[in-house]
Amino acid sequence: MAYLYPTVYFDGELVPEKEANLSVASSAVLYGLSVYTVFHVAVHNGEYYCFRLPDHYQRLVDSCKIIGMDTFAEQWSYEMFEKAMKELLAANKPSEHVFVRASFHIDEKLPGTRSRGLNTVLSAFVYEAASIVPRDGVKLKTSVWRRTPDFSIPSRAKVNGAYVNSVLARQDAIDSGYDDCIFLDSHGHVAELSAANIFIVRGGKLITPGQNMDILEGINRRTVLELAKELGIETEERPIDLTELYIADEVFVTGTSSYLSPVTVIDSRHISSDGITKKLQTAYDEALVSTTSSYVTKL
Ligand code: PMP
Repeated sequence: MAYLYPTVYFDGELVPEKEANLSVASSAVLYGLSVYTVFHVAVHNGEYYCFRLPDHYQRLVDSCKIIGMDTFAEQWSYEMFEKAMKELLAANKPSEHVFVRASFHIDEKLPGTRSRGLNTVLSAFVYEAASIVPRDGVKLKTSVWRRTPDFSIPSRAKVNGAYVNSVLARQDAIDSGYDDCIFLDSHGHVAELSAANIFIVRGGKLITPGQNMDILEGINRRTVLELAKELGIETEERPIDLTELYIADEVFVTGTSSYLSPVTVIDSRHISSDGITKKLQTAYDEALVSTTSSYVTKL
C-alpha cells in the first residue's frame, strides 16, 4: 500500500484522515456516487508543480455534468479548487513527488437512486507516487469482462461506482499472473486497461483508440499525443483489433498512476517496446517533473 499523508482536505477544512468521514447512509457509499481524479505533483525545493491541474479540474466538471452532480461547477471555481489543493500540499509538506486524489461526493443520506440537487462535499488526500504497474514491462491479459458502453455506464465519466467494472477485470488478470487487463468494448475492439489508456506502434505510426470508443479521456493519453506531434511522430486515433496488439511493433500504456510504461506480454505473446516507446517515455518523464513546462501549475 502506498503511504498516505496524514492531513486530508474534507468539506472546506484540513483535518486528520480519521476525521474525514462520509456517512454509511450517503449516496457516495450506497451507490458509488463520487467523481474523482488523481494528479501528479512534482516537488522541487519545497515547491509543488501539479501536472495539468486545469485539465483535471475540467474532467471533474465534465464527469459531474454527465452524472448530474450539478453542484460541483456551481460551488467550485477552478481558482477555489486550486487554492484548496495548495492548502492541502502546504499542510502535508511532501518532500518527494506525490499523487493527489480529489473526489467530489454526494453526501446526502438515503435520497435513493438520483443525483441532482443533493448535498455534496469535496475531499482530497496526498499519497506516495508509486506506479500501479511495473514500469519496466507490463503483462496484460485480455479480459472476459467488456468495458461499460456509453449507453450503460459511460467510461468518459470518472465516477467511483463504475470502477466495479475495472475491479472485476483487473482482479481476474492478477489471479492469472498478469499485471492488468485489456478491456475490449462491446464491439470487440480494444478499449483500455482498468485504469490506463493503451497505444500501439505499427510501421512507425502511433495508434490509440479514439475518444468515442468507450474509454476514459485520459489526460496522459492527450499529453502523449501532443508530445508525439512535437517529436514528428505520426499519430492516428482509430479502432484497434485485439490481433493488432499481438503483431504490433510496440505497445505501451499511459495514466497518472501507470505513467508511460511499456508492455512486454499480452496473452502469453511477447511484445518488444523499444524505439518510439523509449523516445516518448523520455519526453513524458521530463514533462512530468519539469518546473518550466506549460503543463505544470506551480502551487
Ligand atoms: N482509463 C481509466 C479507466 C482510468 O481510470 C485512468 C486513470 N485515471 C486512465 C484511463 C488514464 O487517465 P489519466 O491519464 O487521466 O490518468
